[in-house]
Amino acid sequence: MLLVGLGGLGCAVAPYLASSGVGRVTLCDFDRIEHSNLARQILYTPGDVGQRKTEVAAAYLSHLNPAVQLATVEERIDDHHARRLMANHDITIDASDNYGTRLAVNRASLAVSKPWVMGSCIRMEGQLILFPGQGDAPCYRCVYGGAPDTLEDCQGSGVFAPVAGIIGTSMAHVALLYLAGTSVPSALHLLDATSYRWRSLSVRRNPRCKDCGPKSIT
Ligand SMILES: [Zn+2]
Repeated sequence: MLLVGLGGLGCAVAPYLASSGVGRVTLCDFDRIEHSNLARQILYTPGDVGQRKTEVAAAYLSHLNPAVQLATVEERIDDHHARRLMANHDITIDASDNYGTRLAVNRASLAVSKPWVMGSCIRMEGQLILFPGQGDAPCYRCVYGGAPDTLEDCQGSGVFAPVAGIIGTSMAHVALLYLAGTSVPSALHLLDATSYRWRSLSVRRNPRCKDCGPKSIT
């Protein structure tokens, strides 16, 4: 399994991948730990500030389950990296906090026909969805095509720390269900954490989508 991003979402996803016995996990993040991360990035402690997130997370996960095979990538994910990495993993979890990375992962998913799970959270709201990367299912751009080039990230907008935990564990849940061969509905799941209500919206492919339209996949 490929995990992109070791922030608030990634820190919630990662332990469940290791503890559930996923054989091989690749952790991607180019950042170092800061004090401001600690409230919601629960794999890190004050003593870890200044260290690479990949290294501290890998040490934690190998302690949690010594049998899991871990690899780390300390680079920003672009189209080239995403294609190479996703081609070598059964499923990707994108726990990054920016639109550009998600679009790169989306294009790579379509190019190599591999699934990915996207999640995001801002303030008291969160969302997640599985994109199969093939067939008649919609892609990320079909669903979010009108989004701006840069979405507010978790750090810039603030997030209530447990919301990152709820969405992150839900992303791990969906990815593990998919790996286990359980059918996962193609829907966008939205959480309003103020009222603690979940909604599921059905989503459709856009036949004129720039990324998954007939002439867009190379
Ligand atoms: Zn599309």
